Amino acid sequence: MAMQTKEQKAEANRKWYAKVKDIQCAKRRADRKKRPEVYLQRSRMADVNAKKRVFMAYGNKCACCEETQREFLSLDHVNNDGAKQRRELNKTNHKSTRSTYYWAIRNNFPLSLQLLCYNCNMSKGFRGYCPHQIRRLKQDVHEQAVA
Ligand SMILES: [Zn+2]
Ligand SMILES: [Zn+2]
Repeated sequence: MAMQTKEQKAEANRKWYAKVKDIQCAKRRADRKKRPEVYLQRSRMADVNAKKRVFMAYGNKCACCEETQREFLSLDHVNNDGAKQRRELNKTNHKSTRSTYYWAIRNNFPLSLQLLCYNCNMSKGFRGYCPHQIRRLKQDVHEQAVA
């Protein structure tokens, strides 16, 4: 048997692993075809878990009014650059809303995102600010005047 150099061994190893990976992928594809509901369920669970993780990381409440009812909360792009990001993410062929959560996880929960309830989110979208902020500003001014 001819002696293999280190490089040849590494190359053989790489080929072997590539082959194993191909076989595993093919198996998984076949399995997915056979039991699509199992995979759908699994990916739904992954989505739910990803959402939970993201909500937790952003404090589980609206960054504006501190609403904690999960059903009212959603991710918001602080600088309103959501459309641009969605275009970027769409290039990678993911479902857009889903991938914002995964994007947040991949990027270690950046401050460019925040949780907002629908009220605050809509107000920010329509007016560019939320009335809560005005109320808080007035309160601050009032407190400063009283102090
Ligand atoms: Zn809110
Ligand atoms: Zn608000």
